[in-house]
Amino acid sequence: QQNERDSLFIVLNFANEYFKETLKKHDEGQSIGLSYFRERGFTERTIEKFELGYSLDQWDALTQKALKNSYNEDILAKAGLLIRKDDGKKYDRFRGRVIFPIHNVTGKVIAFGARTLKKDAKPKYLNSPETEVYHKSKILYGLFQGKQAIRQQDNCYLVEGYTDVISLHQSDIENVVSSSGTSLTEEQIRLIRRFTDNITVLFDGDTAGLMAALRGVDMILEAGLNVRVVVFPQGEDPDSYSRKLGTTEFKNYLKENTRDLITFKAGLYAEEAARDPIRKAESIKEIVSTITKIPDPIKRAIYIKETSSVLDIDEAVLLAEMNKLLISQK
Ligand code: ATP
Ligand code: MN
Ligand code: MN
Ligand code: MN
Repeated sequence: QQNERDSLFIVLNFANEYFKETLKKHDEGQSIGLSYFRERGFTERTIEKFELGYSLDQWDALTQKALKNSYNEDILAKAGLLIRKDDGKKYDRFRGRVIFPIHNVTGKVIAFGARTLKKDAKPKYLNSPETEVYHKSKILYGLFQGKQAIRQQDNCYLVEGYTDVISLHQSDIENVVSSSGTSLTEEQIRLIRRFTDNITVLFDGDTAGLMAALRGVDMILEAGLNVRVVVFPQGEDPDSYSRKLGTTEFKNYLKENTRDLITFKAGLYAEEAARDPIRKAESIKEIVSTITKIPDPIKRAIYIKETSSVLDIDEAVLLAEMNKLLISQK
């Protein structure tokens, strides 16, 4: 219903303004929230650009403020801002956290991500629930701020988290989005396609099981996009590493470490096969299965040729395997 969606946009915008003001004007916001962002190296300009905020460490600071401004509890709950328990207890969802508003592609605030400031507190990030206006699988963090650059650069960097997006902007790289810790959905790929056919996935150095993570990327190929990857050193993510290297060196790192997905995979498999020949047959099947997902037959042929040389396997064998898969898919 259009009315309800509009009311949600309005209350979410109100909450966003409140969180921003709390960060800048309130003692607790300044001493805890603002100093946290400063310690992370976020500049004033970054805080403005991403509309970062802070939620007070109180049970219902936002709710009280909203009620005074004639919003009702129902709309706060529907927006995911107020939690109401069966026993009648109510409280703000976001308390004592720094706030990352999530915008849709046109710039309306539709949800929030909120990070705890306490070491080891769980969960580290708390996000808005699914609502009438927020469907997690259809949103990319950073797309609103980055869409023009994505079109201009004709490439979209994909990172894991909010802070990776923000730090890349500070490193003068604005063509970047995050799927917020989950693997990319088809809807999200469709969103990116409105601006470019090229995706470069930046993997955290702590990514559990790089092989499995790489498999998750196959669906981007299926959609017909060109996929490149960059892997970061152990323990580093794009945020930490860009700050460690500084803008110029970080850009160089990206330049020198960007690999075509399939070439990169073939290289990994070749290493594995050299260590364990029994795994070689399986590796070949895996890589051919990935190549088969590319819709364009010319691109497929190019990759088969390349894989043949990297894995030292006759091209005809790879082609036969690919055709077997293509037929079974029909
Ligand atoms: P930071 O640098 O602030 O510690 P990060 O962005 O490096 O955070 P990761 O642990 O790498 O955090 O997680 C990547 C992303 O996954 C986060 O930005 C967030 O969107 C999402 N995420 C992480 N932990 C949770 C959680 N407990 N619940 C929901 N989403 C989460
Ligand atoms: Mn991570
Ligand atoms: Mn991080
Ligand atoms: Mn991370």
